[in-house]
Amino acid sequence: LASREAHPESSVIDVSGVKIGGGQLGMIAGPCSVEDRERMMRIAESVCESGANLFRGGAYKPRTSPYAFQGLGEKGLEILRDVGDRFGIPVVTEITDPRNVELVAQYADMLQIGARNMQNFVLLTEVGKSSRPVLLKRGMSATIADLLMSAEYILSEGNPNVVLCERGIKSFDPSTRNLFDVAAVPVVQGLTHLPMIVDPSHATGRPDLIPPCALAGLAAGADGVHIEVHDCPEEAKSDGPQALLPEQYKQILQQMRLMADLL
Ligand code: PEP
Ligand code: MN
Repeated sequence: LASREAHPESSVIDVSGVKIGGGQLGMIAGPCSVEDRERMMRIAESVCESGANLFRGGAYKPRTSPYAFQGLGEKGLEILRDVGDRFGIPVVTEITDPRNVELVAQYADMLQIGARNMQNFVLLTEVGKSSRPVLLKRGMSATIADLLMSAEYILSEGNPNVVLCERGIKSFDPSTRNLFDVAAVPVVQGLTHLPMIVDPSHATGRPDLIPPCALAGLAAGADGVHIEVHDCPEEAKSDGPQALLPEQYKQILQQMRLMADLL
């Protein structure tokens, strides 16, 4: 179902009115975790003004340590929904538990499957039964064939609305958090009709590398860019060190727009 051979035309995924694919870019921005309401409103106001068309924030955080902040749960979903309604922007949030699909789908416009859960087949099957669009991130040790098979799990349950995301893979070099596999974009797009976006935030883990990698992703043909933004990275509940400030996001979005116009 995911194969380009069977469906030569690129799919356009509609996320509550925002289209991703076929030349239309999904610009996802927001903090790693949903935090307090005022801060979320502040960050959303600024990224919306800059031109982001999807807002993100995790209410259920898959953390390496069980002692790290695990997310605000349903309270976080409520805040995220309110932010989306206030600014008229669709919201994306991660789902980590197959038992929560209905709950999360009540609040969110798009369900994110994180890298750590890309091969959680029960979870894939459950989001496949939902009608909400899905953002499926590539696992940090997953091949492109693995990623496409995971998409197949969702599609085969009847949900055709899948957007793929390259977010970096494990490498031997600790210079960057992960290795940004920019070639994955055209490789995936050759194999599937589904849109593919890039996430230079998790791919590099370094604010200084996010702008060049975002532009490289677009130059490689990505259907959108996912960037974490926080107004006070030192206070962020997760992934603060890789967050861009709102002004930095504004700048890179202008550059991305210029580049998209050139392509
Ligand atoms: C996230 O988007 O905050 C996240 C945890 O991403 P990934 O699953 O790519 O690590
Ligand atoms: Mn994050």
